[in-house]
Amino acid sequence: MFDKYNRNINYLRISVTDKCNLRCSYCMPIGGVNLISHKEILSFEEIYNVVSVGTKLGIDKVRITGGEPLVRKGIVELVGMLSSIPAITDLSMTTNGALLDRFSKPLAKAGLDRVNVSLDTMDASKFKEITRTGELSDTLKGIEAARNAGLYPIKVNCVVKESPLEPDALGVGRFCMEQGLQVRYIKEMDLGKGIFSKVIGGEGGDCIKCNRLRLTADGKIKPCLFSNLAYDIRELGTKDALSLAIGNKPESGSLNTENRFSNIGG
Ligand code: SF4
Repeated sequence: MFDKYNRNINYLRISVTDKCNLRCSYCMPIGGVNLISHKEILSFEEIYNVVSVGTKLGIDKVRITGGEPLVRKGIVELVGMLSSIPAITDLSMTTNGALLDRFSKPLAKAGLDRVNVSLDTMDASKFKEITRTGELSDTLKGIEAARNAGLYPIKVNCVVKESPLEPDALGVGRFCMEQGLQVRYIKEMDLGKGIFSKVIGGEGGDCIKCNRLRLTADGKIKPCLFSNLAYDIRELGTKDALSLAIGNKPESGSLNTENRFSNIGG
């Protein structure tokens, strides 16, 4: 479905949980955050319904995000449900990779096409410092397992302060070159201050070409990451919530004082 700025909105990013097994310094405070209560979290049937109704409005690309999607119990089952929808031609996931070694094969078998893995440094102690709880070796094992399971292409999301020329980013870039992985550099963003920029090597942050909607873990359709606009599928019904989100999608982002990255999935 085209929005009023003639952008074809065909991409739905779904945050399936606001929980995460890491505590990345640019995303979450060390003590974590107040999580969405269990009863508010969308069920698999509700998520499936949003996607299938969405396909009637032109959605054909779905990305599963979080928090960390692999901590959501039954995630492989959800992937199987979504991959069974014929109109979905591209089903992907963004993960921190810490659990990818264990999940790659079952995810690929369930119909997942590809993964984006977060990796900001090749220095193990720096990795621990940034994620506060993660091990670089786990994420690297996860990338290898994804490759072996045929989840391809594997894209690497590397968060930078200002530029891909920062030492950690250069290290990640070299690693990706050697491993035949696609790297994208994401400058640190601030929802509440409306600070964001185009993803270097990717499509995100390019408002003129923006084709995406987001579904939060508690059932809000968000037409834009940097906006407070939100349409509740439980209050409005799925079709109306999706149509209103597309119809009211802003020309470009401003700021978002309602969400955190951990509950909207970036
Ligand atoms: S800020 Fe909003 S309109 Fe711009 S690219 Fe992000 S989601 Fe799309």
